[in-house]
Amino acid sequence: MTPADRRKVVAIAGNPNAGKTTIFNNLTGGRQHVGNWPGVTVEKKEGRSSGGGVAFDVVDLPGTYSLTAYSLEEVVVRDFIAGEKPDAVVNVVDASNIERNLYLTTQLLELGVPLIVALNMADVAESRGVAIDIALLSELLGVPVVPTVGLRNRGTDALKETIGKTLRDKIRFRSVRVTYGREAEEEIAKLERVIEDDAAMRDRLLGKYSARWVAVKLLEEDERVEEDIEVLAGPDSPVFEKLEESRRHLLTIFGEDIETVIVDNRYGYVAGIVREAVVRSKEGYRSRSDRIDSVLTNRILGFPIFALLMWLMFFLTFYLGRFPMTWIDHLFHWMGNWVSTNLTSPAWLQSLLADGVIGGVGAVLIFLPQIMIIFLCISLLEDTGYMARTAFIMDRVMHWLGLHGKSFIPLVMGFGCNVPAVMAARTLESEKDRMITILVNPLMSCTARLPVYALFTAAFFAAHQGTVTFSLYLLGIVLAVAMAKLFRATIFRGQSEPFVMELPPYRWPTAKGTFIHMWERGSLFLRKAGTVILVGSVIIWVLSYFPTGAGYGSAASLAGRIGRVFEPLVKPLGFDWRAAVALIFGFVAKEIVVSTYGALLGVGESKAATSAKLHRIFTPLTAYGFMAFTLLYTPCLATVAVIRRETGSWKWAAFAVGYSLALAWLVAFAIYRIGLLFGGG
Ligand code: GDP
Ligand code: MG
Repeated sequence: MTPADRRKVVAIAGNPNAGKTTIFNNLTGGRQHVGNWPGVTVEKKEGRSSGGGVAFDVVDLPGTYSLTAYSLEEVVVRDFIAGEKPDAVVNVVDASNIERNLYLTTQLLELGVPLIVALNMADVAESRGVAIDIALLSELLGVPVVPTVGLRNRGTDALKETIGKTLRDKIRFRSVRVTYGREAEEEIAKLERVIEDDAAMRDRLLGKYSARWVAVKLLEEDERVEEDIEVLAGPDSPVFEKLEESRRHLLTIFGEDIETVIVDNRYGYVAGIVREAVVRSKEGYRSRSDRIDSVLTNRILGFPIFALLMWLMFFLTFYLGRFPMTWIDHLFHWMGNWVSTNLTSPAWLQSLLADGVIGGVGAVLIFLPQIMIIFLCISLLEDTGYMARTAFIMDRVMHWLGLHGKSFIPLVMGFGCNVPAVMAARTLESEKDRMITILVNPLMSCTARLPVYALFTAAFFAAHQGTVTFSLYLLGIVLAVAMAKLFRATIFRGQSEPFVMELPPYRWPTAKGTFIHMWERGSLFLRKAGTVILVGSVIIWVLSYFPTGAGYGSAASLAGRIGRVFEPLVKPLGFDWRAAVALIFGFVAKEIVVSTYGALLGVGESKAATSAKLHRIFTPLTAYGFMAFTLLYTPCLATVAVIRRETGSWKWAAFAVGYSLALAWLVAFAIYRIGLLFGGG
């Protein structure tokens, strides 16, 4: 027999007592036979049925809650689905207990079989006041959902019809998958690579399972998969080494078994589905996370709480950051003085060290405390599970924009750094959603802009640093949202696709995990200071120092000449040539905007003196406009590169640079002109 002639096989899977056998009987009528699963004393029922003009065999699988390897039943189900590759699996779901039942569904989805959900016990659900949006559930899961009442043989014809259609048309469903959070996903990706690199595993294991599935199972400490790999690749396989490393890493980060984290994420996925597609009219059991969510993701309170948390974050950043900042300021001050007194010749070397290196890099580095505090806050918000919920909080706004709530997560990640945030847009399944999210991401204010805000707010808005900074972040969000709406209405027309927003349980962050996260990001900033910012500062020093005799950092120096070429472009915004130079070099990394002022205005002088110098070239109004310009104009070089990579074309990278430059100019112009009308200046 050729495979085409083979009778189609449909397996029925589900939790115990979900109604599998009842559905099986409804489908097959009397045509069935009972045996045992090979080697085990678990009953196996087989029968025949047909629907939509297609005849098929039906197999009633044992009831399971999960697809781990803990029980005989689970192993039977797993081996059957992966080994025998049925043409379709009907997942019988007890609608009155949907949360628990969908847990198995997520794992069946992960196995990648053509799935049909029979939403059984629809009568019981209804009597308990549970209403389920079938169409939405189907869209979220990416598989057909057929409501049934097995006991009364209702929905059987529709189910047969859907099975027939699935078998006949080989419908390709959206690939839906549970994601396990950034940390775990990174380890999963590494393991996948090791698995795919091993020839024996690739040939023998990956025919049955995907590399991702094997990787997740390994992290879950699945003994069966471990044994299989030991047989195929040997106990010394590099997979085990990598696995050990990944588990250890994840254990330090989460402070609990990765197994628990994976299970939590699956429940988070289910919780997300239930939250969207199920309406309960009567109060049932609510977990601690549910109770916290009823406040934090509340339709009315959710957004104000989010905004308050953000404001608090900036307040703390500047309030607490002041203290260590003065120490660092003193340190650079002292270093500057030391160079001035002890290194009097050659003069150029003294200037290079004092004005270029200490002035340029120091001007950025004194904001290290602020940056660490903001990273600490972001890590805390992420590790507690709050960040994942911003998607829910913003969902209504995002829908109004024609985007999915899930698009908000990459946007929030942009507060840290736009580079990983642009990459995080991969989690969006719709291509258009992904493109819009990538293109507006650079408008989210990353921490590289923070030193710029810190410098200018200290000089011009000393009493309201946190609030003014908050307003700039808000400006970024509002414009990102507006541009998203514009792009949706013009270049990327269409509807956003619904998909699941995970609601992982709230957890107490571990001090260790939070500090590791903070340090990972903080050390990147330090490395940037020692490389890109250092090189940038030296280049700016060269341009300011030469030609000798022109006067360091004067309008006659090279920097001054470059600046004056571009000055007409920024003049209407109320900026001078120094701003032009700073913005040109800030394209490499936005911190360099600060280094430029550090190098041009010089340090070794007190904060008050720097502030006085800034007051000579800016007013509070133009300072605010300058901060807005820095926020919005061309994404930094690394972001442009990652946009190119993720969109696969220079065209989009150039577009991102172009539109944001135009936007920055218009906004700064509006701030300046409108401010002047109201008597600012
Ligand atoms: P299995 O363990 O999944 O094979 O579940 P069974 O098919 O043995 O069903 C468990 C119990 O639920 C039996 O008493 C069925 O009669 C009952 N049952 C099955 N489907 C429904 C339904 O849609 N509504 C109600 N009220 N009971 C059902
Ligand atoms: Mg049964």
